[in-house]
Amino acid sequence: MTACLFCNIVAGKTPAQFVYQDELAVAFKDIHPKARVHLLVVPRLHVASLDDLDNTHDALMAHMIRLLPIVAREQGLANGFRTIINTGAGGGQEIAHLHLHLLGGPPLPGF
Ligand code: AMP
Ligand code: ZN
Repeated sequence: MTACLFCNIVAGKTPAQFVYQDELAVAFKDIHPKARVHLLVVPRLHVASLDDLDNTHDALMAHMIRLLPIVAREQGLANGFRTIINTGAGGGQEIAHLHLHLLGGPPLPGF
């Protein structure tokens, strides 16, 4: 086991409710959902946050962004969804492995 929870989830060492997996990224249900659908899209590669990206991650990030509407549609979110990326302590990031929150389903409060 590594010290990183999401690395352990990606490796199958810590259980999670996966809804999508490919060679670069996975999506699983947030353990404390803030909406009817609340998923986390997570790269298999350990990258701590947006602050740690460089140009070697460009294709990975594009891949994950393009996954969002695909996974949202699979989850029945036909009318749209919300995406949140928390970065660092100032952004309220709790898990230091980059992840995209995908939220949807009524009612989503205004932001
Ligand atoms: P953040 O504050 O952006 O780092 O978000 C971390 C998210 O991970 C929170 O929404 C937590 O509810 C979620 N989380 C923490 N532990 C787990 C877990 N074991 N499985 C799924 N989601 C988790
Ligand atoms: Zn990690």
